[in-house]
Amino acid sequence: MATSKMSKILIIYTGGTVGMIYDDKTKALRPIGFNEIRNNLPELYRMGIDFYVYTFNPPIDSSDMQPEIWVELASIIEDRYDRYDGFVILHGSDTMAFTASALSFMLENLSKPVILTGSQLPIGKIRTDAKENIITAMEIACSRHNGSNVSMVPEVCIYFDFSLFRGNRAKKYNAEKFEAFYSMNYNRLAEAGIDIKFRPQFMLPTPTKPLKVHKDLETNITVLKLYPGITRSAVEAILSVPGLKGVVMETFGSGNTNTQPWFIESLKKVIDKGAIVINITQCDGGSVELGKYETSQHLVEIGVVSGHDMTFEAAITKMMFVLGQGLSVEETKKQLETSLRGELTPIQVY
Ligand code: ASP
Repeated sequence: MATSKMSKILIIYTGGTVGMIYDDKTKALRPIGFNEIRNNLPELYRMGIDFYVYTFNPPIDSSDMQPEIWVELASIIEDRYDRYDGFVILHGSDTMAFTASALSFMLENLSKPVILTGSQLPIGKIRTDAKENIITAMEIACSRHNGSNVSMVPEVCIYFDFSLFRGNRAKKYNAEKFEAFYSMNYNRLAEAGIDIKFRPQFMLPTPTKPLKVHKDLETNITVLKLYPGITRSAVEAILSVPGLKGVVMETFGSGNTNTQPWFIESLKKVIDKGAIVINITQCDGGSVELGKYETSQHLVEIGVVSGHDMTFEAAITKMMFVLGQGLSVEETKKQLETSLRGELTPIQVY
């Protein structure tokens, strides 16, 4: 790591536990302004980083995150892209993986770091994890390849509990450990100990083209999560959303579903009406392999798309992003099955 000139970082504070306090009246945590962070983290001013803060007003619990706010975040970055070396987004952990995934698709040709972080305990708590998470996220956002101005991390990432993850590969898996995230299907991009050990071999290449920001997201999509015993009326109700454009179907194991004729017929009906159905596995690790078992062969025949090893968060936001492009059905399917930002590992079935 080398920082040849003082780095300029924009901190975007959206809210989340990191900046929350206990409300004496309601006895619940609620987000407050950036001052709580500023007052509890004087170290920020000793880091030798030229940083500025953009605060959401009011800050939100990330359970209130919406696609319109992703567009707002992408626009904030777009408008200030040339003025900063990197961006640190302070965000609640609950939907952090969705926001990181969405931004990874919306920010095409990203050559600067966009690092999301937050914490499990508010910054005012003695045992808080917020300080380490914020300080190291800031250091990562400043890191460049030796002797150059080229950022170490030209990606949207999540930094949490000493690990740096590709944003669209991460998942919040634990609501009480400091280690709240993991990435089952892709290597961590860096680990922080005494030093921050980057693994450039796992990072996306630095693009040569200028940043392109996509702001059209299609939200008329739904989720069909399978379980033994799911009823025909439940499936039909989920698939009968008016004007439905896409379905993320969470299947068993390597992409298997029940094979009852009514089930396959319901899927075929919605596909024939023009919706795209993508198949991802309910397992956190491993991949969909369409056609591997007889129980997924029908899906290939009716035109279900493979989501390979994408996380749920990546699949949902990629669906919104790709459908928002207004492409032909064939091109939409192709884009969904292709790795656009390192979000999936394609598997060939022979
Ligand atoms: N509910 C909080 C949020 O996501 C949890 C957190 O920040 O960890 O905003």
